[in-house]
Amino acid sequence: NLGNPEPMTLGPRRKTRQIRVGRIGVGSESQVSVQSMTTTKTTDINGTLQQIAELTAAGCDIVRVAVPTQDDADVLHIIAKKSQIPVIADIHFQPKYVFTAIEAGCAAVRVNPGNIRKFDDQVGAIARAASDAGVSLRIGVNAGSLDPRLLQKHGKATPEALVESAVWEASLFEEHDFHDFKISVKHHDPVVMVKTYRQLAERGNWPLHLGVTEAGPAFQGTIKSAAAFGILLAEGIGDTIRVSLSAPPVEEVKVGLQLLQSLGLREKKLEIVSCPSCGRAQVDVYTLAEDVTEGLKDVQFPLRVAVMGCVVNGPGEAREADLGVASGNGKGQIFVKGEVIRTVPEADIVETLIAEARRIADEQGLE
Ligand code: SF4
Repeated sequence: NLGNPEPMTLGPRRKTRQIRVGRIGVGSESQVSVQSMTTTKTTDINGTLQQIAELTAAGCDIVRVAVPTQDDADVLHIIAKKSQIPVIADIHFQPKYVFTAIEAGCAAVRVNPGNIRKFDDQVGAIARAASDAGVSLRIGVNAGSLDPRLLQKHGKATPEALVESAVWEASLFEEHDFHDFKISVKHHDPVVMVKTYRQLAERGNWPLHLGVTEAGPAFQGTIKSAAAFGILLAEGIGDTIRVSLSAPPVEEVKVGLQLLQSLGLREKKLEIVSCPSCGRAQVDVYTLAEDVTEGLKDVQFPLRVAVMGCVVNGPGEAREADLGVASGNGKGQIFVKGEVIRTVPEADIVETLIAEARRIADEQGLE
């Protein structure tokens, strides 16, 4: 067995009702899914489909596209048909685009009650159209576009205000006997966001879409999202996630998947166990770890590779991994499944590890 055959799990998922976004199940019976959103103009059909293909290749489960204009709504049927993964139409301000998106074959529609003023009057018609087409919805409440009535009542976008908005909108759909929706209550502050989702999770068994909205550039956004999602997912809260970064959407998917893998919620693929290096290091650990990661980045099976700078913890970690190197004196002891198979010069370490990973994959019929 490679990788970590019996990973520890954090605890049970919160029980939710189950919905579908196209072929992807969302709810406690399904694995936590990863979403992202295209940054192209949706009317740029080829550009949008190209970006969706890149997201699909990166492991994205569900993609959302913006529908700000009639022209965007008009091309949804092509995007929905040609996308390899389920498409969610993201709609603000114009309820009529919701109907277009449903007719276009989108797997789901995201509606933001705070941005659809006459939304309440349209709920019955939206519920009927979605139900007839087997399309699910996301009620996407966002701190930046909270219903003005609630903003006035609560003074600002507090957890209570966000939850009140979500619960109210959920009740409108439920009154029409429509239950195929998930809810998000996003805030840019991870602490507020965590408190909001915790409160919402207490109020009903809706599947929840997690997001720290406007989380920032890649470094800050990754940490904010990891901190908030880590807390909630450890409590079993969260059925689908989107890491929002001011960075290309493929980066959002990489972060999202890595986050789920780190929490034992997805099968780990390549896992590099590398030391931070210190004054004892006898090789350039940073470069070595980066080169090994780059060389093995296409590994699609669980493989733990230890890259260690010296003999203090090196042999121990290298022995625990599927593959490893413990360096010393400009050389690397190469371990496979706990056995030293050979010692190679520093310059050959990366190449040897890559060759051994390929050999393991071939032997076990993996790719
Ligand atoms: Fe330092 Fe060696 Fe530990 Fe790396 S393995 S951090 S070089 S003591």
